[in-house]
Amino acid sequence: MWTNVNPVLDSADVVVIGAGIAGITTAFELRERGYDVVVVEQRFPAYGASGRSTGAVWLQTCQAGPELDLARAGRDKYQWYVDRLGNTFDYRQKGGLFFFETEAQGLILEDYVKDRSNAGLQVELLSAKDAKAQSSLLPQTAIGAVFCADDAQVDAPRFVNAVAGACARKGVRIYENTSVMSSIRQGDSVAGVRTTRGDILTPGIVWATGAWAVNLSTEGIDIPIATARQGQILTQTLPPVPAPIMRGPRGVTWASALTALQAYEESVFAPPQAGAQGGGSLQYDDTIAQNSEGGLFIGSSVDEPGALNPHIGMLATNAMLTAALDRYPEQAALGVVGLWAGITSWTEDHLPVIDRVDGLYLNVGHSRGITTGPIGGELMAAVVSGESPSLADTLSYRRLT
Ligand SMILES: Cc1cc2nc3c(=O)[nH]c(=O)nc-3n(C[C@H](O)[C@H](O)[C@H](O)COP(=O)(O)OP(=O)(O)OC[C@H]3O[C@@H](n4cnc5c(N)ncnc54)[C@H](O)[C@@H]3O)c2cc1C
Repeated sequence: MWTNVNPVLDSADVVVIGAGIAGITTAFELRERGYDVVVVEQRFPAYGASGRSTGAVWLQTCQAGPELDLARAGRDKYQWYVDRLGNTFDYRQKGGLFFFETEAQGLILEDYVKDRSNAGLQVELLSAKDAKAQSSLLPQTAIGAVFCADDAQVDAPRFVNAVAGACARKGVRIYENTSVMSSIRQGDSVAGVRTTRGDILTPGIVWATGAWAVNLSTEGIDIPIATARQGQILTQTLPPVPAPIMRGPRGVTWASALTALQAYEESVFAPPQAGAQGGGSLQYDDTIAQNSEGGLFIGSSVDEPGALNPHIGMLATNAMLTAALDRYPEQAALGVVGLWAGITSWTEDHLPVIDRVDGLYLNVGHSRGITTGPIGGELMAAVVSGESPSLADTLSYRRLT
């Protein structure tokens, strides 16, 4: 007979660990299905990558197949939340512009547009003049752009907090400033979680700990995800510009729909001065998007492979500012009101893991989690309920081991 000698904080049908976009949507969906749910978060909702992101929902860059299927379902899931919670998180499907600066890039992007169109996306190749009409933020260096009407944007921290609020109203208990240290086992069964504030008794544990999922090794689960720091600049507010989310030809390694093309040539998209501003491992891209308050998110850097360090580095700051001034000199006078990094994580196929492993449920490895997180919550709740949703077939832990 097992007796627990530690203080008991609570008990629930399911404990969700992590209140980022993956964890909080899992909690919401489980509660909708009638489960008694507790969420445990080491700091506060949206403390992790979910609270530090641009909020771009890019579909056009996702490769046809499981990646695009998941992204499409993820984008559509936002409407489901709008219908339930109201649009308090500024969800906007206003499209995405992928601009280019050389004829060689434009030739490859012609193939990209054909491929994207075959994948069922609403895409068109625009001249610089037509692209400028879509976005006043388009840099002078752009000679054309691919516009995709399927791309969208959301205020990710607001979304996480809106879902957290809805969870609380529905009776989900959210323990902030509380870390889960381990699961508690009783023989072969899961009996609860040990937290810094006491034990929570439960037969069901969902780990939705983002990049911190690397710590699952202490549970005997070696999850093959890579982590890095991703930096972001936020400027002071501007009047709203009718601009879709936008990216340029730098940092395209994440655009798997482009890099998988036969016509793709890395040298054509090589960032000027790559590495010169901060060592070989530093990368940055040309993303620009206006947030719901009017501030501009500009660029993002990726450095410190393997890091669990959510502080922006000086070299990354320098690279982002240099790239921002180079691409968007019109915005140079704007004040910087935010400069931060979050820890990003990814699997080798850029798909998350949504699965049951050794009695524990995993909803981790979201690399574009603002896009895939909300649908990930639905899929995780379905798996906990014993269902086998077809989208989850490609998200098994086994595929990576
Ligand atoms: C600068 C930046 C820009 C980005 N831009 C985009 C974008 O435009 N579009 C897009 O789709 N994606 C973007 N991403 C990626 C996206 O933000 C992440 O994929 C997504 O937020 C991951 O969500 P998550 O819930 O899995 O992880 P997280 O949001 O990191 O949440 C994990 C939570 O678990 C908690 N936790 C960890 N360990 C424990 C523990 N032991 N006990 C209790 N709590 C714990 C953490 O505190 C954290 O709150 C960006 C990321 C960054 C950093």
